[in-house]
Amino acid sequence: MGARPLLNRRLTTMGTTIFAEMSALAAATGSINLGQGFPDTDGPRAVAQAAADAILAGRGNQYPPGPGVPELRTAVTEHQRRWYGLEFDPDSEVLVTAGATEAIAATLLALLEPGDEVIAFEPFYDSYAACIAMAGAVRVPLTLREPDFRPDLDELRSLVTPRTRLLLLNSPHNPTGMVLRPDELSAIAQLAVEHDLLVATDEVYEHLVFEDSAAGAVSPAHLPLASFPGMRERTVSISSAGKTFSFTGWKVGWVTATPELVAAVRTAKQYLTYVSAGPFQYAVADALRMDDSYFTTFRAELQRKRDLLASGLAAAGFEVFRPEGTYFITTDIRTMGEKDGLEFCRRLPERCGVVAIPNVVFYDNVEAGRSQVRFTFCKQEAVLEEAVERLRRL
Ligand SMILES: *Cc1c(COP(=O)(O)O)cnc(C)c1O
Repeated sequence: MGARPLLNRRLTTMGTTIFAEMSALAAATGSINLGQGFPDTDGPRAVAQAAADAILAGRGNQYPPGPGVPELRTAVTEHQRRWYGLEFDPDSEVLVTAGATEAIAATLLALLEPGDEVIAFEPFYDSYAACIAMAGAVRVPLTLREPDFRPDLDELRSLVTPRTRLLLLNSPHNPTGMVLRPDELSAIAQLAVEHDLLVATDEVYEHLVFEDSAAGAVSPAHLPLASFPGMRERTVSISSAGKTFSFTGWKVGWVTATPELVAAVRTAKQYLTYVSAGPFQYAVADALRMDDSYFTTFRAELQRKRDLLASGLAAAGFEVFRPEGTYFITTDIRTMGEKDGLEFCRRLPERCGVVAIPNVVFYDNVEAGRSQVRFTFCKQEAVLEEAVERLRRL
């Protein structure tokens, strides 16, 4: 095939996602997988039944409408109104996607020109770097640092240049569990307005802001950036059913934004998947309309699991950074006399039968994340207890 590399230049640094390597290691060693963030119990039975009913009733088995089935688009607008007081038109301001992953990809592919700069928090969720690269844009990291991983807003301001086109934000933040506070959101909003920036917000953990966090003390616990002055017209808000309803395999996500932004994102999205998950879209519409008690119980349950894993990790000698939200705990292994998270995670399965993820793979500035290791707690309590028991042996 000649001398030219097969993989294009934009993707050569991407390699294989760390989740593939670590999940394969978990399978090969029979380890408890606290690496990838997927629950080990399915979401509500009634929601699963709604999907099964939709399939058998022939709802969504053929290509659904490009923007998503009307039932789901309406349910998304009801959800945004009920939890955040945000109003969207279901016909022109909602787009259903193949998970948040496609929403992120389509947003970046639609809105960026080659050479545009995108500022994002690092550690990054791993698809951000890949999608920014596929768009030919340049990622500019704002490093979140231990111990609290709060963004330095002066540093953020200093990163804005005439080439900055978009801020890509994630709160609650994977993998650190940081949740942006109202004053931080307000400062970010002002900066975006001042420099006329577009913003994309990844809010897949919107229902996992823990009650005992600073952000959890106010209501609603999660605050979408789109609700701040000047942001409704420049923000693409992204979320998904996977994390909130514990059906990560369904890949039903959505975008809410102005008609102009939705039309732009739809232009890219229609040539990625066109449509997906027809019958599941009906089930997710039902899920979004569940009583408040579903959402509060889910959050309380995950908070208990967080506490179980956090105290176990601390007892095993890790430095634990208590997350305010998400499925994840970030730790530092220097308290255990270790330095290198990647090497630590590659050996952890054989040492004690547990798989974790080295945060360093989510950093450009690798020194900032070299000794961090991430564990997920979206597993059954018995599994977390067994993992903690194993980690104590280290
Ligand atoms: C899991 C996750 C996603 C992907 O969501 P899907 O709906 O499964 O595509 C996106 N962003 C973050 C931060 C995540 O943790």
